[in-house]
Amino acid sequence: MSTLKEKILRRIAREGPISVAQYMEMALYDPEHGFYMKGEPIGARGDFITAPEVSQMFGELIGLWFVQAWEDHGRPKPFLFLELGPGRGTLMTDMLRAARLRPQFAQAAEIVLVETSPALRQRQKEQLKDAHVTWRDSLFEVQPDRPVFLVANEFLDALPARQAIKTDQGWRERLIGAAGGGLAFVSANKAMEEFVPPRLRGAPAGAIFEFSPEAQDAVRTIASIIAQWGGVALLIDYGHEHSAIGDTLQAVKEHAYADALGEPGGADLTAHIDFEALGAIARAQDTKVFGPEPQGSFLEAIGIRARAKKLKEASPARARDIDAALDRLTSPTQMGTLFKVMAIAQARVSDLAGLSCSS
Ligand code: SAH
Repeated sequence: MSTLKEKILRRIAREGPISVAQYMEMALYDPEHGFYMKGEPIGARGDFITAPEVSQMFGELIGLWFVQAWEDHGRPKPFLFLELGPGRGTLMTDMLRAARLRPQFAQAAEIVLVETSPALRQRQKEQLKDAHVTWRDSLFEVQPDRPVFLVANEFLDALPARQAIKTDQGWRERLIGAAGGGLAFVSANKAMEEFVPPRLRGAPAGAIFEFSPEAQDAVRTIASIIAQWGGVALLIDYGHEHSAIGDTLQAVKEHAYADALGEPGGADLTAHIDFEALGAIARAQDTKVFGPEPQGSFLEAIGIRARAKKLKEASPARARDIDAALDRLTSPTQMGTLFKVMAIAQARVSDLAGLSCSS
């Protein structure tokens, strides 16, 4: 049994069952054994792959999207170019390379990366050694005094989520306790109805509703920064457009699904994000929300096919790989539909490329 699993079992023996969010927190971010604290969780040699790791096209297009948004905002100078959870630093590298087309953008950008994991931070340092970059441990430490252009890819889904389960007695928190020497789901006595949207409360027994207080806090902070300082935040993640019933707590190890309770620390753990709830939180900060738009149609709208064609012309030997990456990023059966793109801007902003306004 992993050391972290033993540590979690000891905590349960001491305190009783823990919430799914407390479990995710330990499994992902335990300072010694958490999944993200190790050297290489993401990428072909890691446990899971993300859009920027699939192809350089992703970061390049997003970079050009930011250049356009920055121009549409009157080219503020200086501005904060902020990335939350940069992983291996690939997205920022590809964005900056594409943004070289507009040297003024790169000159005006003050790059700040928010990263908790020392191992990944080291990786980002190596990857971005030619850029001037500073780091923060937490979004809540960022105190902007200028417009902010913010990107977060697969950041919100890595934040701990809680689960409520409908029992015969009503909605209760779904907890993780000890059973048979291992971990098992149990339900608590505390009523959870207030956390479940009214239209979902009548779901049948066994239904599960997820919400992430940390993702909600993050979006509230992002939206209040944008409302105050201007700029735009682009959030890309997998999740549902509307609040919904469903157990999406998912473990991935070595590119395959794994038991969520099997090997804490040894596998990635995520929960889908609820774009409806997060969009409402952003709007409550007096911002305008664009999307969520499926990742596939967003990338098509901002020119991924033309970019793929160019890359294939430049290196015909890689044509098959480029087509495969294009398909992986945009196809509805791959990352094209499940992944979605949502932007937050000031209320006066009327257009953002590839996204329609939803508020
Ligand atoms: N954006 C990258 C990595 C996604 S994985 C990509 O697309 O490849 C999630 C990332 O968020 C990791 O870098 C992880 O260490 C970081 N992270 C998770 N929770 C965090 C938090 N609370 N604050 C800062 N970074 C966090």
